[in-house]
Amino acid sequence: MKNNFSYFLEEKEKLSFFTFPKLRNIDSIVYGFTTKHWTKKALIENFNLKNFSIISLKQIHSDKFHFLKEVYSKRLVGDALITTIPNILLTVKTADCLPILIFDDKKRTVAIVHVGWKGTIKKITKKVVQVIIDSLGIKPFSLFALLGPCICSKCYEVGEEVKESWKKEWGVFDYLLYPSIKKGKYHFDLRKANLFQLKELGLRQEKIFNINLCTKSNSKLFYSYRREPTNEGRMIAFIGLKNI
Ligand SMILES: [Zn+2]
Repeated sequence: MKNNFSYFLEEKEKLSFFTFPKLRNIDSIVYGFTTKHWTKKALIENFNLKNFSIISLKQIHSDKFHFLKEVYSKRLVGDALITTIPNILLTVKTADCLPILIFDDKKRTVAIVHVGWKGTIKKITKKVVQVIIDSLGIKPFSLFALLGPCICSKCYEVGEEVKESWKKEWGVFDYLLYPSIKKGKYHFDLRKANLFQLKELGLRQEKIFNINLCTKSNSKLFYSYRREPTNEGRMIAFIGLKNI
């Protein structure tokens, strides 16, 4: 279906999810981004995850993350997870926020990030990748990053308070946060602001994959907090190392 040559939308039993044809040969990692209507049960069945401990997050729009060396709890508080241990499935849930998967299949390391404007201002993506680089000796150019669907900058309107805290932490980057035609409102480019952090750290363009679709404008595929604030449905992003 949707195809910009870097991702496909595939379907299993009426549930659709994204795959990346260029990453077809990477079989030591299980990963993906779902669309609507998936459950944990469907995920386990469709992706063969019975042997995995599934870790979820109470997401708090922070820069807090966990580097899992063992499973001490299946529910943690924070917005990102890293592990080098097989059979642990890292998951985040989103509806407008950006889910990011990061991995090095050779060095057997996987990470996941949930990020909205607050986490972006705090640079959680950069902090997670920096830890992977520093503590595991992984070179940035060997890392893959997959950015899932999120709200686009046209649909993502934020107020003066966001602009103020943005300016304080980031200085000026006009193309990432720019004025709306409405007074006191701004458009925030969540995707580009996180891409910026990945590129700043030295990740290579050809190893960064983007599902550049807007969650708010594609109601058939995605839940959107901005479109339907009372809908509690969420898409699931997940990644884990297979035990090979
Ligand atoms: Zn949009």
